[in-house]
Amino acid sequence: MVLSENEAKFKFCPLLKTTEDKMKFCQGSMCMMWRRHDKDKDKGWCGLAGKPLNAAG
Ligand code: SF4
Repeated sequence: MVLSENEAKFKFCPLLKTTEDKMKFCQGSMCMMWRRHDKDKDKGWCGLAGKPLNAAG
């Protein structure tokens, strides 16, 4: 899923949990798994699930 970092910050991360075992939001470019879009530097995706089909370039 290609999205802006601001949008990603409202999506749950499959890896991160709070101390109460609740899901945490994506950390965007603060995370080593974040992949920045080649053509639109304001957008990207979580690299855990591979490259999205709609991520041209
Ligand atoms: S980019 Fe990092 S923080 Fe965001 S969903 Fe993927 S693994 Fe979690």
